[in-house]
Amino acid sequence: MNLSTEALLNLLKDKNIRPSYTRIKIMEYLAARRTHPTADEIYSNLLHEIPTLSKTTVYNSLNTFVKAGLVRTVTIEDNEARFDADTSDHGHFKCDMCGNIYDFPVDMAGLHTKGLSRFIVKQRDIYFKGTCPGCLENNIN
Ligand SMILES: [Zn+2]
Ligand SMILES: [Zn+2]
Repeated sequence: MNLSTEALLNLLKDKNIRPSYTRIKIMEYLAARRTHPTADEIYSNLLHEIPTLSKTTVYNSLNTFVKAGLVRTVTIEDNEARFDADTSDHGHFKCDMCGNIYDFPVDMAGLHTKGLSRFIVKQRDIYFKGTCPGCLENNIN
């Protein structure tokens, strides 16, 4: 998902979010990476580009994006929220060894959710944990 600055600008405008330079940079950072960064990671990586950046601004911007449905949180670990600019249906796999989080396609429509027919579902998260192919290979060698 590599969106141009122009496209990001319109994305924010569409959601009535004032497209400040910082917000565009944060959105750009998220859209260009599939690594599901934490707020701290985003902050440290953007600091050299935006020396006036504060952690509060990063947190507030991310909150705004999440509320607008532009970004979703991945809380595969209780103690850290990660952020994902891909809001389409997909599952997350966390590798115990390298800590990377991988996306995988999930057929949410085909999921059997018996017993929820009278509930309103607002969010669906699918989290798997284990060992990724890269770590498996390194372990054998
Ligand atoms: Zn791994
Ligand atoms: Zn994801």
